[in-house]
Amino acid sequence: MKAVVKTKRSKGMAYIKIPVPQIGPRDVLIKVKLASICGTDVHIHDWTRWAQHRLTPPRIIGHEFVGKVEKIGAEVTHVEIGDRVSAESHISCGSCYQCRNGYSEVCKNLKLLGVDYDGACAEYLTLPEHVVWENDPDIPDEWATIQEPFGNAIDTVMAEDVTAKTVLILGAGPIGLFATGIARASGASLIIVSDPNNYRLNISKKMGAHIALNPGKQDITPLILEATNNNGVDVVLEFSGNYQALNQGLKVITPGGRISILGIYERRVSVDLNKEVIFKKIRIYGITGRKIFSTWHKTSRFLSSGLVDPSPIITHQFPLKDYEKGIRLMRDGKCGKVILKI
Ligand code: NAD
Ligand code: ZN
Repeated sequence: MKAVVKTKRSKGMAYIKIPVPQIGPRDVLIKVKLASICGTDVHIHDWTRWAQHRLTPPRIIGHEFVGKVEKIGAEVTHVEIGDRVSAESHISCGSCYQCRNGYSEVCKNLKLLGVDYDGACAEYLTLPEHVVWENDPDIPDEWATIQEPFGNAIDTVMAEDVTAKTVLILGAGPIGLFATGIARASGASLIIVSDPNNYRLNISKKMGAHIALNPGKQDITPLILEATNNNGVDVVLEFSGNYQALNQGLKVITPGGRISILGIYERRVSVDLNKEVIFKKIRIYGITGRKIFSTWHKTSRFLSSGLVDPSPIITHQFPLKDYEKGIRLMRDGKCGKVILKI
């Protein structure tokens, strides 16, 4: 089969022919139809510091996909041949303290698809049955493949309710853009999106942002205060991974508000806890992955019901062999979500 593989401990990837993987008794073999590119894949491609410490080549990349089950192991009980599936990318052990305490997204023995385990940018992949998700028939393939990052956005937005609340979204990358649609569908009364990238700010308006601000061109603090009767926002959702954005967000949360943080920072970040958090009585949520599988149920319903239409975010599609074009667009921020056709 053809696959996109991180073959060496250096920049780049290879589109090569390798054997179709074998399945174990509890695994399923999936023929991949579409895979979508995530920022993680760009890190692996560019062999950033994170990737160097985290990944051991060779590895097939990719963890967002939709495909069809072609084969099942002898002990598989609920997945059937022909099922149209995607999967949870956090492959948990099922037996550690976290797994047995409702937190399998932070399993002690977590393996990440496309990082610790061969991924989805290939004609076939195998997965243990317990991470496979059967897709709602009303969700088209192009939407089914983006459910994994859509789930990141759901958990960030919905850590507390946003109904009739004022919300600031920092970072209009694909996940911040999903969050914009989710916050709008969940009844947020005011959604302000901030990103230095105008291409992405335009998409945010299509996703329901009331106000789109460019922090590279204007001081956004007075504009946010003006839009909120000088109160600041009830909710800040951090999707930029930029510490200046985080500090900006903490400044404009109204006392008693909350912030949920999904963005990942290159370096240690410093925050004035006394001033920005304690005396303002702010609630902070760190978000990683998704709740398995309660978030998948919500994702499925947001998409199948039409509550959120993610099409403005899906900006590009290429055949798998042209994955480099997608990686380049992602690196330059000249896209929303990029899909690869297998
Ligand atoms: P992305 O890199 O595509 O988007 C980040 C956006 O932030 C970009 O559009 C960028 O222009 C914008 N930005 C940069 N500086 C900014 C500033 N000062 N103010 C406002 N916006 C700014 O990322 P993505 O794929 O949408 O993911 C969002 C973040 O979540 C990333 O940091 C990613 O690493 C992280 N992430 C975390 C998890 C997790 O489980 N915690 C999972 C997936 C992604
Ligand atoms: Zn575990």
